[in-house]
Amino acid sequence: MDVSTIASDKKFQNKIQALIKKVNEVQGEASSIVGSAELKVIHEHLEPLSKSLSFNGFSILNDEGLEIGSPLDGVVGTRWLVSISEGERLFDLVRLGNTVISLPFKNELALLDQDGVLRENKPILLVGSPIYDSQGKFAAVLAFFLSPEAVFTEIFGISQFGKSGETYAFDVSGNRLTKGRFDESLRQLGILEPSATSSLNVEIRDPGGNLLEGFQPSHKPDKWPFTRMVKSALQQQSGFDIEGYRSYRGVKVIGVWSWLSEFRFGVASEIDYEEAYSLLFEVKKSFYGVFGFLVFAACGVIWLTWRQGQINSSLVEATEMAEKASLAKTEFLSRMSHELRTPMNAILGFAQLLQMGPVYGKFQEVKNMVDPILKAGNHLLELIDEVLELSTIEEGKLRASIEPVEIFELKNDVLDLVKPMAEKESVVLIDQCPVERRIFVMADRLKLKQVLVNLITNAIKYNRVGGSVTLAYKIESHKLIFLVEDSGPGIKEENKNIIFKPFERLGGEDSGIEGTGIGLSISKKLIELMNGAIGLTSEIGKGSCFYFSLPVTDEPSVLKEKIDRNSSSLETSQNVMTVLYIEDNPANLELVEQILRGKENIRLISAIDGGLGIEMAREQSPNLILLDINLPDLSGISVFKKLRSIENTSNIPVIAVSADAMESDKKMAMGLGFCSYITKPIDVPDFLKSIDDALSKAN
Ligand code: ADP
Repeated sequence: MDVSTIASDKKFQNKIQALIKKVNEVQGEASSIVGSAELKVIHEHLEPLSKSLSFNGFSILNDEGLEIGSPLDGVVGTRWLVSISEGERLFDLVRLGNTVISLPFKNELALLDQDGVLRENKPILLVGSPIYDSQGKFAAVLAFFLSPEAVFTEIFGISQFGKSGETYAFDVSGNRLTKGRFDESLRQLGILEPSATSSLNVEIRDPGGNLLEGFQPSHKPDKWPFTRMVKSALQQQSGFDIEGYRSYRGVKVIGVWSWLSEFRFGVASEIDYEEAYSLLFEVKKSFYGVFGFLVFAACGVIWLTWRQGQINSSLVEATEMAEKASLAKTEFLSRMSHELRTPMNAILGFAQLLQMGPVYGKFQEVKNMVDPILKAGNHLLELIDEVLELSTIEEGKLRASIEPVEIFELKNDVLDLVKPMAEKESVVLIDQCPVERRIFVMADRLKLKQVLVNLITNAIKYNRVGGSVTLAYKIESHKLIFLVEDSGPGIKEENKNIIFKPFERLGGEDSGIEGTGIGLSISKKLIELMNGAIGLTSEIGKGSCFYFSLPVTDEPSVLKEKIDRNSSSLETSQNVMTVLYIEDNPANLELVEQILRGKENIRLISAIDGGLGIEMAREQSPNLILLDINLPDLSGISVFKKLRSIENTSNIPVIAVSADAMESDKKMAMGLGFCSYITKPIDVPDFLKSIDDALSKAN
């Protein structure tokens, strides 16, 4: 909560926006960011907060995962945090609008410890929250570092009960996440380093005998099996064992455990068998003993309830968040089920009537029954497509084929589509788009069309009889701003951000207006995928104006006839050089085919993913490889490393082709040994020159 409060503070957001502007100006160059006044202001803002909340430092990542602010200068300008799996996971979840706590992980960088000393390799955990810009667009991640020993261990109860009882947490690999009461004995046994705690340093494995009584295991600790408790918990089971089993110290214990899948860790409480039962043996001896046992048991129950309450209250926030998400999902599912059932009713109802047969041969009556079936069926299809599309975007699997798109024609196509709806709703469409010159934007044609249709149909749906929808666009600093203005009821200030969240209908569900609440969230994600931004202005009672911006580009030269890649004359010619292009996006492949079409000495072959690319390179030994860095299966960097490790591909020059235009990405790739780094959109003369240079060297 603290982190999300800091991240949503308007003043702080403005400071971050200034920093992002600076980072863009200096093209991510680390030393210029580190020395900037913009970062200094942020340090002054965050450092006292970080101290007062006992955090061990912070990181600010821009929307591409680049570190743009950190107390460690060396980290700025790198992608350090997202290169760690917990960091990458946090970044992905925060980008979707969540405030997220990571699991503890080991951090190789030196961070300030509780006592103010810089220490490396200490366990650390992260809390991250999104920072939005003034238009409500995701701009950056604010992450604070915490010491799990100070926080996690406390929350999840390093509770020590009796002489030997303890409660601890462990992760999916059986690693302890919390320090324990027996750390000192583990150090003496040599299982733990002298200054370490068991948090992230001990796996809960069964040594095979009681270590404390001098048992000498024959294998190294990593060969020991997991304890009975961990084996069960890692199968996502909760359980207890009062018969007794060997713990990680080799001592016989009884225990109870649970795997908390939503938090990705397990919790166990264990106590030595002897201690647990010794009292029982005693109390058997006399009535007073029994009475004593009952008192003990009652105290135990009270203690457990109290402890549970403590753990619960600490988990309650996290659980509330999870519950909210799950509630939104349940609400969505019940809404969806309603939406799906309504057309299903028409389909099944009319189909049954047809099956009964009395209308056979009466064309008009049959038509009257089939029409609603088709209409309802099409509506169902639309719903299913929307939900599927949203889940594809949410999983980050959606890709855009970005190319120059002429906006005036596209707008006309969309107007043709929405005209019948506007007429039906008695809303006038006013087109104020300038006709004077052709304007091209870098976009995915189909996806852009989808966004426009969504904005305009919303402007028609949420309007009044006799109202109007006005379309206009203008160019501002190399960006096209497209506006869709309506004369509807308007949108309250506090709803302007949540309107872009999935499943939000702002009461639209009670208005009788058809919808799913998904359209705007898809539109926002699509526009961001095309490197643009979306937003709105609105006045209650007067109307709303939704707008989006996209980068403008020059008019492309006419695409020429397609190359015949199977041409045998090319293959047999002596000077022909083979170029392998590993690229999953058909539009990009087509573009490169067209660019290389004029080069008679080049035979272009292609592969649509990293695995296939490596296979083709191995089999065909091309003279040059063009490698897309964002491939669906492996990253371009992994493909490159693999190519370098295979004997007959290790010397083939490789050119990186990537949409990541940051100077740091380029530097990193060149450092790995790529012979050049081409950024999309491709600059044709530069691209051809890089290919010529690489091929002449290869020759
Ligand atoms: P849907 O229209 O399917 O409900 P959207 O995601 O497109 O879903 O829109 C979400 C909600 O935002 C709508 O339910 C409606 O309440 C509100 N909304 C969208 N566009 C407008 C508009 N132009 N004017 C007023 N309210 C709007």
